[in-house]
Amino acid sequence: MVPVLAQSGVAILQYHHISDDTPRVTSVTAAELQQHLEFLQTNNFEIIDLAKVSALLASDQALPERAAAITIDDGWRNVYENGLPLFKRYRVPFTIFVNPKLMREAPHLYMNWEQLRELQRYGAVIANHSQSHGHMTRRLPNESEQQWQQRQLAEILQAQAEIDEQLGGPQPRLFAYPYGEYDPALQQLLEQQGFIGFGQHSGVWGRLTPLTAIPRFPAAAQYANLTTLATKLMSLPLPVVAAEPSSMMVAHEQLRPPVRLTLATLADIRPQQLTCFFAGARVTPQWQANSFSVSLPSDLPIGRSRLNCTAPSVSKSGRFYWYSQPFVRPRANGSWPD
Ligand SMILES: [Zn+2]
Repeated sequence: MVPVLAQSGVAILQYHHISDDTPRVTSVTAAELQQHLEFLQTNNFEIIDLAKVSALLASDQALPERAAAITIDDGWRNVYENGLPLFKRYRVPFTIFVNPKLMREAPHLYMNWEQLRELQRYGAVIANHSQSHGHMTRRLPNESEQQWQQRQLAEILQAQAEIDEQLGGPQPRLFAYPYGEYDPALQQLLEQQGFIGFGQHSGVWGRLTPLTAIPRFPAAAQYANLTTLATKLMSLPLPVVAAEPSSMMVAHEQLRPPVRLTLATLADIRPQQLTCFFAGARVTPQWQANSFSVSLPSDLPIGRSRLNCTAPSVSKSGRFYWYSQPFVRPRANGSWPD
């Protein structure tokens, strides 16, 4: 008997710009977003609010068989201009992650609070993307761990204070890491402050997902394609209970960190059908009981990269379990590209 709760999950779509004249890599057109919303509606997906998912999981309640969530990072003005008509029409919940300091500094680029309040009336939750959208895991030269913590706490809590004040009271404590970058120390800070944290590595939010490392599927550019997006929306959370490395931040010298993932159950998976991909190359995992290890087929590039692993569900034809292990490898000087 397959544990049902271990199987179901929520596929979260991640957007940035809604526009046809912004960088394609982070943009969908309004027509593409409309296609996505149509697809979700006609295929009976329940579009679900992130705070509600968290509550359902916390109380051990089942998630809908087909569940998706919509998130939009950075609060670009084009989301108001091109997205509002769609959100008015489809009336679905969605979450916008904003950077209050950047909104003050570049008001021509970002939505203002009044526009965000209007979006709130049509289903938006306004949530936290830090004050200034920095690489939060980076320590400054000569900065102590405590000084780093204080600096990041201010990034998180000052942004939340502004959001709460502008949106009429305490809002759900949802945090999207800038660039999807986090490490165990940052996860701990968020957890202590009662936030759940969202990354930018792909995958499905399930019962076993750490609440400070929730995956999202990018839905822009080549990922806007409905055929590939449909597979992701239908995917299931691979029931990973332990992962090595435990942090996506690796040392500059660490070219091929060993990866080892342990699953809670193999009940609905045929281990020999699990495949991983890294930098376009297919990798065959080595199994040992409920764990598998992967040797990266090429060196980690400078900056962000990920290993994706999928396995078909035995009981649910056409659906795949999905897991993504993100990496950030810095240059020798400790920096990496945006
Ligand atoms: Zn962002």
